[in-house]
Amino acid sequence: LSANSWEHRDMDNVFHGFTDLGTLKSNGPVVLTHGEGIHVFDVHGKSYMDANSGLWNNVAGFNHQGLIDTICTQARRFPGYHAFFGRIADTTVALSEKLVEVSPFAEGKVYYTNSGSEANDTMVKMLWMLHRRNGQPQRRKIITRLNAYHGVTAVSASMTGKAYNAEFGLPLPGFLHADCPHYWRFGLEGESELEFSQRLARNLEELIIKEGPDTIAGMFAEPVMGAGGVIPPSEGYFEAIRPILRKYDIPFIADEVICGFGRTGEMWGSGKYNMEPDAIIASKCITAGYFPMGAIILGKDLSDELARVSEQAEEFPHGFTAGGNPLGSAIALKALEVLEEEGLLENVNRVSPRFMERLHKLGEHKYAGEARGVGLMGAVELVADKSTKEALPGDLQISERIANKALEKGLICRPLGAAIVLGPPFIVTTEQIDEMFDILEETMSDVFADVGL
Ligand code: PLP
Repeated sequence: LSANSWEHRDMDNVFHGFTDLGTLKSNGPVVLTHGEGIHVFDVHGKSYMDANSGLWNNVAGFNHQGLIDTICTQARRFPGYHAFFGRIADTTVALSEKLVEVSPFAEGKVYYTNSGSEANDTMVKMLWMLHRRNGQPQRRKIITRLNAYHGVTAVSASMTGKAYNAEFGLPLPGFLHADCPHYWRFGLEGESELEFSQRLARNLEELIIKEGPDTIAGMFAEPVMGAGGVIPPSEGYFEAIRPILRKYDIPFIADEVICGFGRTGEMWGSGKYNMEPDAIIASKCITAGYFPMGAIILGKDLSDELARVSEQAEEFPHGFTAGGNPLGSAIALKALEVLEEEGLLENVNRVSPRFMERLHKLGEHKYAGEARGVGLMGAVELVADKSTKEALPGDLQISERIANKALEKGLICRPLGAAIVLGPPFIVTTEQIDEMFDILEETMSDVFADVGL
């Protein structure tokens, strides 16, 4: 590759996040030019099937003409404006109406950000303000779960239950992490899945009591943990923790950044798992990946409370310049129309049985400990020993090796810890699912043979 190549220009000028810089140095970046359906193409014309929908978000494919036309039309009409000081674009009002309509709340209100991280961050500030104006300024602690992913801003990274945030001296004080509801990994010998969920609920209640219920501002949870390695909740988990949160009057927020808009086979993951949230955090699929946007959909109780304390006191002193802008709003409206009118959710349910069948077949591999998933999100966790669940040696970097080898073969999949994670676009066909798993099966055989296992 010449010094003038896209790869060199990247390496000379871009500082990559969430990228193993050693691998980047040896393999180089993949510089992309465009996409078609569920494939993306690099500067050399090589095609890759993206089994992760970008980052879970490009669910309608990479060149949806209706979405592209909407971008052009709205850009000509009214491309950019803010939503401060009582001014707002018509498309943003229309989108808010639509989001409340498709939400689980009969009534509610929407607040806009540019990302999922900002939406979580904003929700925390809303709760802090609400409690403070309600005469409870000490209610500042936020509960999330170990292994959760809620974003990267200082607050949302504090909510994220991953060890790498120690790199930044996070979490901030007052961010508490309850148990991860992963039965296969954390269930005790002889403990049923339901008993496991009940034990986690008891632990949560103990945590709340130990910290002081009147110090807790709220709890956040993903319906299915995504970046934690696709972990659907254990049976009865949300049903067990929900009454505890009600008992102590703790607002419960569903982080639907990955699950929202159909990934689990239902519009909302929180509906599928009976979370009964007070508010929903949305992003990613809200624009089908065609524009940065995050949103908080507040249920009636929280939005009424926030309106009440804001009328008595002052404004909510918070906002992002581009939050709720006309272009993003028009795109999100169109993405919702595409979801409904082009039957994307129906397709998730049509192809999901094949996806799960192939995932479970991959789970029969000698070194696959667990194959898990729901809808169109799945993971296969690799272990040294199926019965003891003992990990493979970390220096093998087995999931990274598999993902790198798959990339060579034209398949994009994601290594997450010891798991390989898949989340194809909602337009994927059963034939493409078969192709995806055929490549992955072959890749796994190659890689395990390469490392002498
Ligand atoms: N919450 C969840 C559940 C996510 O999966 C993510 C991103 O993957 C975020 C929040 C953060 O969203 P963003 O990357 O848009 O800031």
